[in-house]
Amino acid sequence: MSESTPKVLIVEDNVLNLKLFKDLLLSHGYDVVDTKDGLEALSLVKEHMPSLVIMDIQLRGVSGFDIIKQIKSEEQIKHIPIIAVTAFAMKDDKEKILASGCEAYIPKPISIVPFLETVQTYINTNEV
Ligand code: MN
Repeated sequence: MSESTPKVLIVEDNVLNLKLFKDLLLSHGYDVVDTKDGLEALSLVKEHMPSLVIMDIQLRGVSGFDIIKQIKSEEQIKHIPIIAVTAFAMKDDKEKILASGCEAYIPKPISIVPFLETVQTYINTNEV
């Protein structure tokens, strides 16, 4: 495990989706930090400074929108790309999600190849 291995924070309260995202990323050589608790997300971002955040929008007790806005309002972490994942399917929802400040949006259920391509694209944009 080299120090250049990109780390991805996954925030997802659905156990099966979390396992899918985590297995995909680990098997493609990424480090993973994960939580099912959206209220932990901001402190985990600051603690781990991941290369990318995968953010479920529909979480218990907090909206992914609010977490994205918090991350994007803090100078030290706002450069970290965020990919929102949600079962919302309507056009208006997509616009609302992107307007929250995240870099990309992937509808659930995910397709594996586009998911991995999107992850790789946005991790590359975060290289210093
Ligand atoms: Mn959820």
